[in-house]
Amino acid sequence: MSVRCPVCKSFDVQKDERWRNTGTAAGAVGGAATGYAGFSAGAAAGAAIGSVIPVLGTAIGALTGGILGALTGGASGAVTGHELGSAMDRRHNKRLYRCKKCGKLFAY
Ligand SMILES: [Zn+2]
Repeated sequence: MSVRCPVCKSFDVQKDERWRNTGTAAGAVGGAATGYAGFSAGAAAGAAIGSVIPVLGTAIGALTGGILGALTGGASGAVTGHELGSAMDRRHNKRLYRCKKCGKLFAY
């Protein structure tokens, strides 16, 4: 399948996947932020351990919970963002293309 630019009729076009890329990045950041909210859950778990090993348990629990939350949240957020962004790129069953010759952005 070859796509032509509607303006200059050039075949020199490339897919524009800005939404997918934007979605992946935004999802990763949003997911990490959401995951980092797991910090309080980790702190709670740490506080429970902290009743046995004071201070140290609270600190370790909070740290572990926060890091784990950010990591898993970031990964799942990136996947979700990627999916959403891909859906944006495919809306109306059309894909975005950019002409390399004249720079025209068009849906095909
Ligand atoms: Zn063109």
